[in-house]
Amino acid sequence: MSNLEQSAVVEQSPVAELVETRGHAGAEWLARYSSSLMGVFGTPQRVLVRGAGCLVWDADGKEYLDLLGGIAVNALGHAHPFVTSVIASQLATLGHVSNFFTSPTQIALAERLLALSKAPAGSKVFFTNSGTEANEAAFKLARRNSAGPDGKPRTRIIALEGAFHGRTMGALALTAKEAYRAPFEPMPGGVVHIPFGDIDALRNAVDDTVAAVFLEPIQGEAGVRPLPAGYLQAARELTSQAGALLILDEVQTGIGRTGKWLASEDAGIVPDAVTLAKGLGGGFPIGALVTFGEKTSSLLTAGQHGTTFGGNPVATAAALATLHAVESQHVLDNVRAVGEHLRAALAAVDGVTEVRGEGLLIGFDLDAEVAPAAVTAALDAGFIINSPGPRTIRLAPPLILTEDQADRFLAALPAILQTAKEAQ
Ligand SMILES: *Cc1c(COP(=O)(O)O)cnc(C)c1O
Repeated sequence: MSNLEQSAVVEQSPVAELVETRGHAGAEWLARYSSSLMGVFGTPQRVLVRGAGCLVWDADGKEYLDLLGGIAVNALGHAHPFVTSVIASQLATLGHVSNFFTSPTQIALAERLLALSKAPAGSKVFFTNSGTEANEAAFKLARRNSAGPDGKPRTRIIALEGAFHGRTMGALALTAKEAYRAPFEPMPGGVVHIPFGDIDALRNAVDDTVAAVFLEPIQGEAGVRPLPAGYLQAARELTSQAGALLILDEVQTGIGRTGKWLASEDAGIVPDAVTLAKGLGGGFPIGALVTFGEKTSSLLTAGQHGTTFGGNPVATAAALATLHAVESQHVLDNVRAVGEHLRAALAAVDGVTEVRGEGLLIGFDLDAEVAPAAVTAALDAGFIINSPGPRTIRLAPPLILTEDQADRFLAALPAILQTAKEAQ
């Protein structure tokens, strides 16, 4: 679509009556941004005005192939017609009700999530608006698992070095990164971080003073680091023996991101809880805590937790639409095929030293600390990518990315890396 057609679309939108976008350049928006938005995100890379499928356009009319998907959120790309029409029709029918009430989409989505996570009888769902809130609910669940043997309290919660579980205080206590935590000490107490992927360290840490162990099957923010084979099984065994909950944070890895509904699916274990968010609503904010089995699902009782927005009709309809489209359009097959293609091709690129991940959650390391410069060079070349570390690039594109689109990036990557090195 040309710039002209694009501005025609913007002009027709009722949003244009509220926010005039035509004729306003990115630089002008960014000046307004910096005088009105809190500086916690730094300067945004671009001002985006429109998306379609795996493409987005900025305020200056430049087109980008979106290989980050709003950080693993836009599972079906931008402006997916089915998801869009379901959201609009639900909003026009019943947009919000308090949790003094329920709605059919909320119940249907809970049932759908229990089915896709193969949860046993008695399992339950609590809806939130984000990943951090899902982990916050899981943190409270863990606190309720406080009674150890002989009346001794379970005071400790185990998480891993490199872990990212969110930015609210409970989830932040689970998050390992010092720069995120230090300004906000003291943290909610009891969280202990142990070395990543080290089964012996886990064995030493898990005893009957532990309430829960939190794990990401693949650490996303740490640069796409999968847990080693056998770790989840060992964690299940050790937590079961000690009476601690095994809580899997699948906020980034869940809902098809790895080519399976859950990244933990093949481990052959039943966790006590799973948290979901990012891809669940296909771009609409929603998160969930799924608790497995009767006992864990009754730890939080009436009045002990709540939310105003969580599980509202529009958010749950958006998630139902997303899950339906992923299933009916065989999107998981695409995730596996295009993911494999990308990883194999990336491994052969000069300057790429390691490729990690599963499906369309991909991390790769560079032979120099030029990842942030590569992000900038990629933007100039029309690609949105991300650098979770100085030498690491992360891709988490829409799950509908085609092989041709992947090839466009692969063809451009050598020049992007060259430009990044020259910029150093
Ligand atoms: C993004 C993320 C979160 C936090 O989700 P928000 O919606 O940003 O609060 C938690 N855990 C993991 C693994 C994540 O990737």
